[in-house]
Amino acid sequence: SLSQRPRIFVSSTMDKTFTLYSDKAEDVATSSSFRQFKIDHFHLDLKVDFEQKTISGTETIQLQCIQDGQSELQLDIHPTLSVHEITFSHNARDWTTTEFLIRDFTNYGTTLVVKFPKPFNSDDKLQLAIKYTATDGPGVCWLEPEQTAGKLKPYVFTQGQAVLNRSFFPCFDTPGVKSTYSATVQVPDGFTAVMSASKWEQMEADSTFLFTMEHPIPAYLVALAVGDLRSAEVGPRTRVWTEPCLLQAAKQEYGNVIEEFLSVGEKLFGPYVWGRYDVLFMPPSFPFGGMENPCLTFVTPCLLAGDRSLADVIVHEICHSWFGNLVTNATWGDFWLNEGFTMYAQRRVCRELYGEAYTCLEAATGKALLRQHMDNTGEDHPLNKLRVKIEPGVDPDDTYNDTPYEKGFCFVSYLAHLAGDQSRFDAFLKDYVDKFKFRSVLAEDALEFYLEYFPDLKEKNVHKIDGLDFDSWLNVPGWPPYVPDLSAGQELMKPAELLAEMWVNHNPDLESICKTDIKPWKTYQTVYFLDKILEKSPLPDGHIKKLEECYSYIIESNNAELKLRWAQIVAKNQHKPGFQHIRNFLTSQGKQKYTLPVYRALWNGSEETKTLAMEVFSATSKQLHFNVRNYVKKIIA
Ligand SMILES: [Zn+2]
Repeated sequence: SLSQRPRIFVSSTMDKTFTLYSDKAEDVATSSSFRQFKIDHFHLDLKVDFEQKTISGTETIQLQCIQDGQSELQLDIHPTLSVHEITFSHNARDWTTTEFLIRDFTNYGTTLVVKFPKPFNSDDKLQLAIKYTATDGPGVCWLEPEQTAGKLKPYVFTQGQAVLNRSFFPCFDTPGVKSTYSATVQVPDGFTAVMSASKWEQMEADSTFLFTMEHPIPAYLVALAVGDLRSAEVGPRTRVWTEPCLLQAAKQEYGNVIEEFLSVGEKLFGPYVWGRYDVLFMPPSFPFGGMENPCLTFVTPCLLAGDRSLADVIVHEICHSWFGNLVTNATWGDFWLNEGFTMYAQRRVCRELYGEAYTCLEAATGKALLRQHMDNTGEDHPLNKLRVKIEPGVDPDDTYNDTPYEKGFCFVSYLAHLAGDQSRFDAFLKDYVDKFKFRSVLAEDALEFYLEYFPDLKEKNVHKIDGLDFDSWLNVPGWPPYVPDLSAGQELMKPAELLAEMWVNHNPDLESICKTDIKPWKTYQTVYFLDKILEKSPLPDGHIKKLEECYSYIIESNNAELKLRWAQIVAKNQHKPGFQHIRNFLTSQGKQKYTLPVYRALWNGSEETKTLAMEVFSATSKQLHFNVRNYVKKIIA
């Protein structure tokens, strides 16, 4: 049954006394002293200024020293963030100004070094108050009115993952440790602030908003958005937030369904601990499909396709409530623990909601993405290991690719396959979440727990089977040694494959092809069909033009997954009449997973498509997210 109601759940972190591999793990992407001090809680008291493009105020941090003899504290910051004054206190009443300096770290951050007059010892408690101003760092995205959906008011949002929040507030910017936080955010009149917090309150008087996150989270999950925002209730614990012009569409597309997704998640993975689950539909330049900021998922407005066909993105973000947000990868090298488990959970939920055939079809498009990625990079590329070795100085964001998602999905599917019965593995997932909730783990922690959970499998040495041993899964690059059986998707894939096959024949009977009515197909079926056309492209002369006439409703569709495929097909076939479609698509949104493949396809084409790439980039680069802009620059360099 899907009608199970949420249970009241009180978080308890104090009984977690067992030690994990992750407790000793090194994180080369932080220069903070997170092994010497523990942050119990921090409060951000901030003011947002759109004219100056600054977020400024005071961060107060409650710290505990956890190693003797600490005379300095290091926090991650960024050159775009300036620190004005630091004071500290033992009792939160008497504050002393203290010295600080800034040290170089890497090209994605610097180190704020706070000097104490005398060393702190284990169990000493202190409060630190940092007056600072954040400007236009990589984690703080300022949008001009033209870059928003409404085009009337500016907008600012933060994006913490992976290591960007150090440009938003001084922090231990590692996923290895967690703390609670609260915030007071003052915004100009007529603006609304929202954050990844379990409590939200507006002070009527002066456009000030209060937030509390009652559960410990890693720094990367702290998120803020300020703009002309409205909301509508769409479920007992869910609101959709968006600019006014998208509110109706958001309500229509996701009203009533989100609660169902949450309930299935709870049934499978245990209680939803975060209280609210709200969704913020972002301006079109948002670089991701979604970002799982707790209590408030940020998603691309591309999801407003008008047909609920892209709901799997929302399901994905909801699944992060257990995998990623509750149990978190301790370092970015083990990102597959966040994304591989979430892909598995997403498809597990979709199986409950939409059945086996649909889920296998969607998984097949994921597999195709992994194939494309490995073909682009070469299978032996070090990024094609599940566990990525992040070298000192390398920005973890630069290791982002499909492997942790789709190869991670294959590995978790393999673990399920070993467990045999689905209900056995479902029970494991629930207990995995319960065991590690509010903590961060390494692959060793997860896999050791798995083997303990299934003593019969440990007995059989499943972790040492040649070629399928866990060590190879983690550390050997290339195609996954096990891929789950997706044959249940055949009933939906076969017709799409056959139709694509007909289109590539040199003398096809176009009249009869066009009589095949694909309008009743599910969106992913059409996506799969277009992927097959793309694989077989370039098509014989004249076929693309005919295809365009035959399926005009696909080309004119508002669905971004379809638009993406059509843009790729146009590029690969050098279909000049379609260039305007590419221009429109790249101008209307800035999602990384849509933008980069199109630029890649253009750049792999002719002089004409290269010129088109440069033309579109020069017209749109300003509206792209910082990271996406840099990735495109690398492609068309
Ligand atoms: Zn994800």
